[in-house]
Amino acid sequence: MDDVVIVGGGIIGAATAYFLSKEGRKVKVIERDPTYKKASFPLSLGGFRRQFFQKENILLGKFAREFINQIPELLKTEKNPKPTASMVPNGYLLMFGPEHAEEQYKALENHKVCEAGTKNIKGSELKQVFPYINSEGIETATYTDNRTEGWIDPFMFHGALKGKAMELGADFIKGEVKNLAEINAKTIISAAGCWTKELLDDIPVVPQKHTVFRVKCPKHIPEMPLTGDLTTGVYWRPEGKEYLAGSPISTFDSKDLEPAWNDFEELVWPALAKRVPIFEELKLTGGWAGFYDCNKLDNNAVVGKHPKYDNVYMASGFTGRGLMQAPGIGRALTELITTGSYQTIDISVFGVERIFKKNARPEPYVL
Ligand SMILES: Cc1cc2nc3c(=O)[nH]c(=O)nc-3n(C[C@H](O)[C@H](O)[C@H](O)COP(=O)(O)OP(=O)(O)OC[C@H]3O[C@@H](n4cnc5c(N)ncnc54)[C@H](O)[C@@H]3O)c2cc1C
Repeated sequence: MDDVVIVGGGIIGAATAYFLSKEGRKVKVIERDPTYKKASFPLSLGGFRRQFFQKENILLGKFAREFINQIPELLKTEKNPKPTASMVPNGYLLMFGPEHAEEQYKALENHKVCEAGTKNIKGSELKQVFPYINSEGIETATYTDNRTEGWIDPFMFHGALKGKAMELGADFIKGEVKNLAEINAKTIISAAGCWTKELLDDIPVVPQKHTVFRVKCPKHIPEMPLTGDLTTGVYWRPEGKEYLAGSPISTFDSKDLEPAWNDFEELVWPALAKRVPIFEELKLTGGWAGFYDCNKLDNNAVVGKHPKYDNVYMASGFTGRGLMQAPGIGRALTELITTGSYQTIDISVFGVERIFKKNARPEPYVL
């Protein structure tokens, strides 16, 4: 009998394998596609932030930054003595119209309690800090300028976690699990991302296709933060000498990963040009689509022991934030499995039982 089997070797599977291996558990990770062609993590924007509404999400975002900062010491191996995730700590800027302002003021109370270190300004003052933004229609905005938010290279992050987990004794093997009953292990963890429902059909986590566009602009602003305009849902960040921009339009029930190209001209470009006038001169240079692991109940993570089994745990439903939450979730699951309860960040509110009780806890700040 195996000790721990993790189904899915994506970012959640790799992070969990790392933390469990560090605690001396013998971990086997089963991954059906080790090239990760369709997995969510390599198709993500790599953003990590602490600007959320719910305290648990804020705290997981804070831990992400702490962990990313320690990658060189924590994840170094004989094969990879200088691991990095190429962090760009440009911060985040989130802008809200009058319809979201009250909710954002409540979120700021949670930021304060969690010592998130965010700054808040009126829309009318935005230009003083971000001179390239057109603040029309923005009531309030929140940002960080202390290098505590930004983005990383998701593939390098995954490689460093996986490499360290392997050095600590984890085995990553190629294979497809059709049914959890096939596995003979003391502990089973489903980390199957947007494909969770294939293994646990009572969990409403499904693929939600999102498109990201790559654009070029003659004027480059390398210090631009990862910026989200909550009046349109469009978000963007610099990527080398270009920019990446995400569309808020998503589709369920899509099997292919063909980008929704029409969204660019109809929605994304006008929204970008309105908010950042230099973006009038954009040129579309590429793009891709990827699946969010969307929890249809409340856009929030589902993590913990599955009450219908003796030995099955799960983690998915991150709905656009699984990359940044991976270190916190890997650590939390390890605490739960090895000690029976959460020791650092209490994420019992994300437990599986709430799904069956339809006890929704929506996180509003999904980008
Ligand atoms: C366009 C886009 C932008 C995003 N931007 C961000 C961002 O800025 N910040 C952020 O934090 N998050 C972001 N995300 C979300 C993030 O990528 C996901 O939440 C995260 O990757 C989920 O990690 P995971 O390991 O659960 O799933 P995945 O990365 O999808 O990995 C799951 C793995 O499980 C394997 N698997 C599934 N079923 C089986 C089975 N039955 N047998 C064997 N293997 C199986 C799959 O092959 C896959 O490799 C974004 C996502 C997209 C698509």
